[in-house]
Amino acid sequence: MSKLYRFLPSMDQILDGITTDKDMAALPRPLIKDHASAFLDICREEIRAGAITEEAQLKLEVLLPRMTAYVRAQSRPHFRRVLNATGVVVHTNLGRSLLAKSAIEAVAEACGHYSNCEFDLSTGQRGSRYSHVEKILCDITGAEAALVVNNNAAAVFIMLETLAKGKEVIVSRGQLVEIGGSFRIPEVMKKSGATLHEVGATNRAHVHDYENAINDETGALMRVHTSNYRIVGFTKEVGLPEMRALGDKYNLPVIEDLGSGSLYSLQGAGLLGEPTVQEVIAQGADLVSFSGDKVLGGPQAGIIVGKKEYVDRIKKNQINRAMRIDKMTLAALEATLRLYLDMDVARKQVPTLRMITASQESLKSKARRLADAIRAEFGDTAEVGMKKGFSRVGGGAFPEYDLPGTLVTLNVKGISADDLRVALLDTDPPLVARIEDDAFLLDPRTLTQTEIKLAATVLRQAAESLK
Ligand SMILES: *Cc1c(COP(=O)(O)O)cnc(C)c1O
Repeated sequence: MSKLYRFLPSMDQILDGITTDKDMAALPRPLIKDHASAFLDICREEIRAGAITEEAQLKLEVLLPRMTAYVRAQSRPHFRRVLNATGVVVHTNLGRSLLAKSAIEAVAEACGHYSNCEFDLSTGQRGSRYSHVEKILCDITGAEAALVVNNNAAAVFIMLETLAKGKEVIVSRGQLVEIGGSFRIPEVMKKSGATLHEVGATNRAHVHDYENAINDETGALMRVHTSNYRIVGFTKEVGLPEMRALGDKYNLPVIEDLGSGSLYSLQGAGLLGEPTVQEVIAQGADLVSFSGDKVLGGPQAGIIVGKKEYVDRIKKNQINRAMRIDKMTLAALEATLRLYLDMDVARKQVPTLRMITASQESLKSKARRLADAIRAEFGDTAEVGMKKGFSRVGGGAFPEYDLPGTLVTLNVKGISADDLRVALLDTDPPLVARIEDDAFLLDPRTLTQTEIKLAATVLRQAAESLK
């Protein structure tokens, strides 16, 4: 056995050495100890493998820089910020929407202080947490009443459970959506206790299909927004006005899962085919549900708006309590919705809308700044270029629309695009970009102005870690 093991520094020496670094001193000691001990195991392995051969290599001051870097990396929080250079605006894996500045401030205020969360300041009595957003949701959408639950999946469930448990719900076959992460309309329907009654063919459904399916067991007519796919070609779906007429004729509620549910019309940005919530309410839907953190650009939430008699029934449903949103969500949602009182303000200040509607010129100048920042880091060790390309809305919205913009291409000499991709998972913060045809691409659309330089820095960090 090698006598070198004896020269490994002791834990006390290590703790004293490591905690001279200010950041390290702020970490919990037991955490440092665990990771330092794991680092010593790595050293022992290196002795065994013959990578460490001299006593001098084991001196504390020699080991310390590597050890500190190791402990720092291991003790990072698990939930971390990530730079999104994919160009997918509502990126489900990267946290969907970023909150507007006013919403971020509202969250900080709500969680650092007591609040009137469930306290009515006009009476000094107990109040309802939903009162904070109900009026503003009605003002913006034109609906009679509103309710907010944890996410849109919960919203769909509670609409069905309340209105159609033990009854049939008629849905077009072309709208039996599956959303990533195991949300499927037929399954959710089953769990809610409602029975799915499919009508039409995959590509076409007619009013008479719905009408023929209505029977004594029917509890509701439902439309589901086919948010993450499109059926093209010889197609037909029944529009809301016709559904409304059918609902009136047979006295049945018409409910719609709108998925993304935009409050801001994106037609001006060339994005067609997604109705706004206001339009769906105006066309007579009894209940509409949509996500708070997709194109709306707020916190995770499931928003239900519609006729008061139905919303009231959902409010009274016991399950509602299990789906209720917390005060941080409420604060963020109210602040986000306030921006929508002026659509122009919403477009400029809600990050999701700002990124989706960014102009060609602004994207090009952002790409230029990113390319310059990367060149400044890499000098002649990389080829940096710009090219026209496309971003996506993401979050299952506008599935077939490409958002045109400018991308930055990066080719670091001697490093493959895929090796770079992997190394970037371990930078501080990590960066996620795109690889197309073996080329490494960065889309500046989803990087904020202040992240441009940081992105260039971590790219260099990643390249250096591969040397
Ligand atoms: C995204 C989506 C859902 C689920 O919404 P979450 O907010 O993710 O729970 C449900 N239905 C449709 C049509 C969707 O697009």
